[in-house]
Amino acid sequence: MSTNGIIHIGKPYIEFTESVVNGKAVRLCTTIMKLSNDDELEKRTILYFEFEERFSAYLCNERSDAFVIALLVMAMEENYDMKFEVPMSERLYYQLSTYFIPLVSKHNPTRLSNIQLTGPITNKPMENLGKVATGCSGGVDSFYTIVRHNEKHTSSNYQLTHLVFSSTGTMDNNSERIAKYYRKQLEEVKRIAKDINCDVVGCYSNLHEFYRYPYWGFCNFFTPIYVSIVFAIQKLIRVYYASSGDPIENFNIDISAAHGDASSFDVFTLSCMTSENLSFYSAGTECSRIEKEDYIASDKATRKHLSVCGMELNGVKKTWKYLNCGICNKCLRTMVQFYVLGKLDKFGEVFNIKDFYEHKNQRIGLMMATNKDCYVSETIKIAKKNHVHIGITPYLWAWLIYKPKGKLARLLGRVRWMRRLYYKWNLDIKIQGYRNGAKYEALKKKLNL
Ligand SMILES: [Zn+2]
Repeated sequence: MSTNGIIHIGKPYIEFTESVVNGKAVRLCTTIMKLSNDDELEKRTILYFEFEERFSAYLCNERSDAFVIALLVMAMEENYDMKFEVPMSERLYYQLSTYFIPLVSKHNPTRLSNIQLTGPITNKPMENLGKVATGCSGGVDSFYTIVRHNEKHTSSNYQLTHLVFSSTGTMDNNSERIAKYYRKQLEEVKRIAKDINCDVVGCYSNLHEFYRYPYWGFCNFFTPIYVSIVFAIQKLIRVYYASSGDPIENFNIDISAAHGDASSFDVFTLSCMTSENLSFYSAGTECSRIEKEDYIASDKATRKHLSVCGMELNGVKKTWKYLNCGICNKCLRTMVQFYVLGKLDKFGEVFNIKDFYEHKNQRIGLMMATNKDCYVSETIKIAKKNHVHIGITPYLWAWLIYKPKGKLARLLGRVRWMRRLYYKWNLDIKIQGYRNGAKYEALKKKLNL
């Protein structure tokens, strides 16, 4: 099948700039041209990865690696071949074109195409400082990776030295909000890094602008997005741990069959993304989420900084006192799991534990109603094992109140005029207890609110 055209990646270059997000900053940039099959220019844009200026010596403009990986899923989604001017690392090129692209497109044929990569390659390793890094979201998976790779648990060459935080975790296209959230969250990552003796690499990028909104490819393939940042700064890093959200039992290369996103085959993705000088590992595939919670509960930095809440990232205005809101599905899953592990009391600094105990049956019921069945059954299994009594009341809350409420919200959201009234009469707030700001902003114009 022929493709729709070519994504042309120009020569990468380094640019110093004064930036509103990073202050004195340095950018690894290149010109991206989207060409039709008749060689007609459809779009020309600059793609950049921006870091603090002190990282300038580690940016890699001698390879196209970062840009190819960053745009790979977009090109597969929109069915464009990719062409690059400056060499790619040979191993990376071989693995992507022989395994990743054909296999992932074959198993997701309605969404992704089998495209070609064309350009020069080299097997000359890029010199690097040998640092060891991981992404830092502050959540359970991320803290598991951090604790697992400290001096107590890992030999010296694999101990963490850097935390990477980037703006590419976004799910919307509101640049102002993304920048604001990035600045705020970067400060939090710096506080975590200080407590665990690591440095922080912050990366701000306009990569999301290259993906078709509402970002199916961008949000389902977070791992290649993060990997691209590591390649942008590949003169610094030798080992990178991508925190896995899924145990290996859930491995599935077909995204529609997997219970989440492309992270269900991270082990494969990461094995395709290594180069002559960079290794990637899917950290945490060896255990379940609840086993990770058990592992990290005694760590001091985790108890101080654990942040699992998805509300602010979704644009919900913060009205709660603690780091975590305590009522969204992510907060509740974590709190209930710590509760059945008998370790919730260790987390009084980041969760409102008093509120949880005061409304324990409702909160467990809400957790059951808003989380995937596999998380709920895993939690109940541990409760039984640890002799933590759940009782019938949480089930009643889940089945008689919270599940019907959720169904009603989904039903109202399905039809245009109902969805309009749903937001106009603030039924979202009345039913859910909060407003998903990012979703609301995206719908505002469309629904004429
Ligand atoms: Zn929350």
